[in-house]
Amino acid sequence: MKEGRTPLLSAEEVWARMREDAAPVADCETIALADAVSRVLAQDLRAPITVPGFDNSAMDGYAFRASDAQGARELPVGLRVAAGDKPGTLAPGSACRIFTGAPLPSGADTVVIQERCERRGDTLILPDKWTPHANIRRAGEDIRAGDVILERGRALTPQAVGLAASCGFTEILARRRVRVAVLSTGDELRAAGSGPLREGQIYDSNRPMLNALLARLGCERVAAGALGDDLAHTRQALRDAAQAADVIITTGGVSVGEEDHVKAAVEAEGTLALWRVAIKPGKPLAFGRVGAAHFLGLPGNPVSAFVTFLLFVQPFLKAVMGAAPTPLRAFPVHAAFARETPDGRREFVRARLVAREGGSLWAETHPRQSSGVLSSTVWAEGLIDIAAGRIVAAGDMVPFLPFEGILA
Ligand code: AMP
Ligand code: MG
Repeated sequence: MKEGRTPLLSAEEVWARMREDAAPVADCETIALADAVSRVLAQDLRAPITVPGFDNSAMDGYAFRASDAQGARELPVGLRVAAGDKPGTLAPGSACRIFTGAPLPSGADTVVIQERCERRGDTLILPDKWTPHANIRRAGEDIRAGDVILERGRALTPQAVGLAASCGFTEILARRRVRVAVLSTGDELRAAGSGPLREGQIYDSNRPMLNALLARLGCERVAAGALGDDLAHTRQALRDAAQAADVIITTGGVSVGEEDHVKAAVEAEGTLALWRVAIKPGKPLAFGRVGAAHFLGLPGNPVSAFVTFLLFVQPFLKAVMGAAPTPLRAFPVHAAFARETPDGRREFVRARLVAREGGSLWAETHPRQSSGVLSSTVWAEGLIDIAAGRIVAAGDMVPFLPFEGILA
């Protein structure tokens, strides 16, 4: 396939083609809830209990029965119930000192917060106005026994871990972790820590960056490494990686230059589709298989590798992890920049937000959008998604994709 002649595909077409191939890993395992953040649920989680299990006070204050206090402003305080106590029973015509989370005594139906009450000895003096049935959290207002609290296919967030714990779960059934091998390619690369750079060398930034992205996603990283620009070594490394990994990711070497061997190596060891995606940065994207493993070839330029990981690799991995697809959600902000010359490709511009008077958000773009300028990705807070051919005037609304919204 001649790279230069293949048609440009839209990001949507690439997502659709990748999704066709992204069958989730089949194996499941029971894991401790404490280790479950970012793991994907393999079954619906049904609540075995109702939460809260009892009506309780939402505030520190006094509980009583509204009908007892319609005429009277003063009530004798009998009972005292704190969080963790048994509920008790309210004597008719009396009030109960109560604290947040304490079970409402039977007979009480209203709580007035302590700041609005006066206490004289054992007598409660109510304010002029109070609301019947206020400040009570009803049994089951969060969860009812039998409810599905978390659906199969959900990647567990910290708050989902909390929700499962609130129902008493200590373990969950999860899909096994997806094993990913990251191989960087290039004779110029040195691993940081392997000694000073010689002339013409650079430190390998892609592999640590991609491994960090995989760690956030909850993937298991299998040992792989940096490869020189050598066909035989690249083929051997791909064969080895395919034994250990579900997904192989490479960076660099996928163009058609003399020193680019990834394409030939994947074609020799498996199958390859090389796509040109109509986006900037990150035009070339290779996709295929080596043995039973999926293969994804990313560009070598670090910013292109980062952006193509966010846009393509991450959704693909989520599908292989068994996670339900989540759409990229951009939100509109004002452009603090202008783009007079439209580009033929959809562009993802590194940008950050500044709040202006009145709270409106404006996106500033980094002045150096070259795909080698990795510092711009640290400066930036996200990407502006600019449609192909679009001219942007300062003040126009543009879609902003916050990194924290894209990153797992
Ligand atoms: P390539 O796609 O192999 O032609 O590489 C494109 C550019 O990205 C070249 O300037 C490479 O030196 C650079 N590059 C490739 N791989 C890495 C890497 N792992 N870390 C940092 N830069 C890289
Ligand atoms: Mg290279």
